[in-house]
Amino acid sequence: MSGHPGEAGWTVGIDLGGTFIKSALLSPEGEIVAQDRVPTGGHDGVDAVVGRIAEGIGRMSMSAPVAVSGVGLGVPGQVDMATGHTGDVPNLPGNWEGVPVASMLAEATGFPVRLINDASAFVVAEMGLGAARGADTGLCVTVGTGIGGGIIAHGRPVFGLGGASGEIGHIIVQPGGVACSCGNRGCVEPLATGPAIRAEAVRRCVQGFSTRLPQFVGGDLNLITPEVVDEAARAGDAVAREVLEDAGRWLGYALAGAVAFLAPEVVVIGGGVAREGSASWNAAVSTARANVHTCEIDQVRFVPAALGYDAGVIGAALWGRG
Ligand SMILES: [Zn+2]
Repeated sequence: MSGHPGEAGWTVGIDLGGTFIKSALLSPEGEIVAQDRVPTGGHDGVDAVVGRIAEGIGRMSMSAPVAVSGVGLGVPGQVDMATGHTGDVPNLPGNWEGVPVASMLAEATGFPVRLINDASAFVVAEMGLGAARGADTGLCVTVGTGIGGGIIAHGRPVFGLGGASGEIGHIIVQPGGVACSCGNRGCVEPLATGPAIRAEAVRRCVQGFSTRLPQFVGGDLNLITPEVVDEAARAGDAVAREVLEDAGRWLGYALAGAVAFLAPEVVVIGGGVAREGSASWNAAVSTARANVHTCEIDQVRFVPAALGYDAGVIGAALWGRG
């Protein structure tokens, strides 16, 4: 990242997701000036997806008043940041292992392209323009369908081997517990994410717990989402609140371990499932605070992510500044 904001150029950020390819043009001042999204169409294969990314770069660059100075691409999986090759990308069809995506895009568009893991892009965005701005040491966590995260140390993002630092979702909090997509048992991810909340809420409805949750979805339990559980909890439903508190508590144990390890100034939580002020947020933060005794936990700030839906493209665009 550029040391001086005044030296930053216009850059394009691309957030490659399983459903959409999001593109944005970022001004030197850090404003999104243009953006759009197209379906990823991952089943069309790697070449087709790379072609769509190149088209997005082309559209964004045409909106810039001067030539863009670089492009960043956020990838939902492993990237080799040195070579610009993708590694294992589990959420996209096709074989992305070892594909020279950065050089393919540079050749197609004429711009230098840098790859970054999507969780790292979130960290770069919140660090550069969001809730972790100015932090020397920080922890960034997203809780959604999965749990992602990243680390800031000495005012810089920490990437680690394969860009995999900060995978807080795969801290084991319950040895021998629920099977996780990573191959472990007992990771926090399958206990604290949106699917976990939904499954547990449905289970309690089916098992006859005294809850008004079914009324929030017209009796169709398939329509229960983490947002519905949150809505019911806010309306005073004790079962809904317990489901959120249980999930939040598991997240809080993982956060406590990470906070004890890193002693961050700030913990940024984003991703939509543990929203600030929700029962899950409150349980996560209070559990984390209650279980760290090795640093001045009162001085650790727990704050919601600031950039929301745009964090992926903003982080990629900041990364594209080089
Ligand atoms: Zn795991």
